[in-house]
Amino acid sequence: MNIHYLTLFPEMYDGVLNQSILKRAREKGIVNYHTVNFRDYAENKHNQVDDYPYGGGAGMVLKPEPVYNAMDEINTKNARVLLMCPSGRPFDQKFAEELSKEETIVFINGHYEGYDERIRNIATDEVSIGDYVLTGGELASMTMTDAIVRLIPGVIEEESHLDDSFSTGLLEYPHYTRPREYRGMKVPDVLLSGNHKLIEEWRQEESYKKTRERRPDLLENFNEKNEK
Ligand code: SAM
Repeated sequence: MNIHYLTLFPEMYDGVLNQSILKRAREKGIVNYHTVNFRDYAENKHNQVDDYPYGGGAGMVLKPEPVYNAMDEINTKNARVLLMCPSGRPFDQKFAEELSKEETIVFINGHYEGYDERIRNIATDEVSIGDYVLTGGELASMTMTDAIVRLIPGVIEEESHLDDSFSTGLLEYPHYTRPREYRGMKVPDVLLSGNHKLIEEWRQEESYKKTRERRPDLLENFNEKNEK
């Protein structure tokens, strides 16, 4: 998979994409990350990428030319072009699974007050990572990259994400490791029983219980799906 980031702050990606699983995915040749500073594609001598809004009002608006020019330079044939914005489609696990099957993804990261409306025409999707406003799209696109890349086959063991929260439709069951008892807190007996059927039932019950307590909204969908 090729992932391109159109950004005014390419250095922000250095730390995140060069660590841990995202770094290993690149080293294994599964994914390539490319940052493009669209300031380099501005059409004026001061490389200005933003301007005052027509009609007045607070804040600056990203101009269309630098973004369109930068897009002309990268191969976006069949790419999913994702425009980061708080008013976009909410990002979730299902969306991450869908995007993990793409060959090319382009993230367009806004800053300032927002985009000139015409920039929306080059996006295939507008995406939000939650109901809050960030100063720019970079952290949002890094969050999404992390969620997407770990789902690409070969990046981590498939088993480790099959049971993840949201993948099953429920929140994940509790995990324990050694020691058996720590500061008076004991590992549930069932996990030490060696009985795989009982362990599986316990995990399913715990997942269900946790989801009912914390996210009853998820449970409605889960029940509906499982009744069919
Ligand atoms: N005035 C805009 C609005 O109300 O929708 C917010 C602009 S925000 C300060 C600047 C940029 O940060 C946005 O253009 C977008 O790229 C990014 N951004 C902010 N919040 C985001 C979110 N929840 N999800 C994705 N991107 C976000």
